[in-house]
Amino acid sequence: MRGKRVAVLGGAGFVGSHLCERLLDDGAAAVIAVDNLITGNEENLRTLNGRPGFSFVKADITERIPVEGPLDYVFNMASPASPIDYAQLPLETLRVGSIGTENGLKLAEANKAVFLMASTSEVYGDPLVHPQREDYWGNVNPIGPRSVYDEAKRYSEAITAAYGRTKGVQVRIVRIFNTYGPRMRLNDGRVVPAFVGQALKGEDFTVFGDGSQTRSFCYVKDLVDGLVRLMLSDESNPVNIGNPREMTIRQFAEAVRAAAGGGGSIIEKPLPKDDPKQRQPDITRARTLLGWEPKVPLEEGLRETIAWFREVAGTKPPA
Ligand code: NAD
Ligand code: UDP
Repeated sequence: MRGKRVAVLGGAGFVGSHLCERLLDDGAAAVIAVDNLITGNEENLRTLNGRPGFSFVKADITERIPVEGPLDYVFNMASPASPIDYAQLPLETLRVGSIGTENGLKLAEANKAVFLMASTSEVYGDPLVHPQREDYWGNVNPIGPRSVYDEAKRYSEAITAAYGRTKGVQVRIVRIFNTYGPRMRLNDGRVVPAFVGQALKGEDFTVFGDGSQTRSFCYVKDLVDGLVRLMLSDESNPVNIGNPREMTIRQFAEAVRAAAGGGGSIIEKPLPKDDPKQRQPDITRARTLLGWEPKVPLEEGLRETIAWFREVAGTKPPA
């Protein structure tokens, strides 16, 4: 990334802000974060403001992306991402995945920049194939409550591939699996901040359903390394990036309790509609094409995340 000029759409979000930091650390000449702060937070950019080459533009990418070229790379990280966020922002989620993605592609086209689309494991829906490989086409309910996100991301993959085929834009598509780390919002409803917050406050863990559904959690530093490697590769087909260590949500609650040294018992809450029963990435393509695999064990990533929530979010450990 040395000397390169990079736009990060959604740069004030959880993943986007870590990505901006990594790009600057790698010697990028310009990193321009574009964000309308609909689910992001300028506070995420606090350590970046003032670093040479970094700038922030507040804008909605579904309207116009007011960024001056030249650009070498465009990362599109913009979209509400937690089930609670996209349930509250259904039309915004559909628009940013469709119109916002096309605007990002046009920005890349105008600058002859490489475009990376942050897609998601949700394109596999409630998967019938396990673990999920990139050649699985998914099992998505097109009108269910999660569809605003899942179908927007499926469309964004389709239009990214189409710009690659028909407009000569160099494209990358990453399917991100559950990722966690510092700067997640304590109240975004995702399981990591929910359980960490509960553990730190000594509250019960709210397990949805019987907690037998599985997820595989990747630390944000590992994810960002995968994003950079994919961008610098010449791979235009989708690549899964995630941690293959799969566990049930009950096991995850126990892991958080152990790492935080607190938390009460487990209480069951209703399972949201269409909640995927199992999820684990097959990362063969990332391993072979990018030489990537996750390095941070869950215990270590949880320690970092909990320390951050304690310090920055002001959540005190239980008395
Ligand atoms: P986030 O909500 O923290 O970040 C998304 C950012 O996009 C926010 O800062 C938000 O304000 C911005 N944004 C949304 N709509 C916008 C618009 N119209 N114009 C400009 N900015 C806009 O979420 P995150 O967890 O950092 O996710 C980042 C990306 O990675 C998303 O595209 C998400 O779908 C994808 N992803 C994340 C995960 C994960 O586990 N974190 C998993 C799969 C995919
Ligand atoms: N979940 C839970 N308790 C919570 C929040 C989430 O049991 O307080 C479950 C949720 O039902 C899902 C899993 O944890 O099975 C992961 O949820 P999250 O919203 O983090 O991400 P998803 O993978 O569903 O997009």
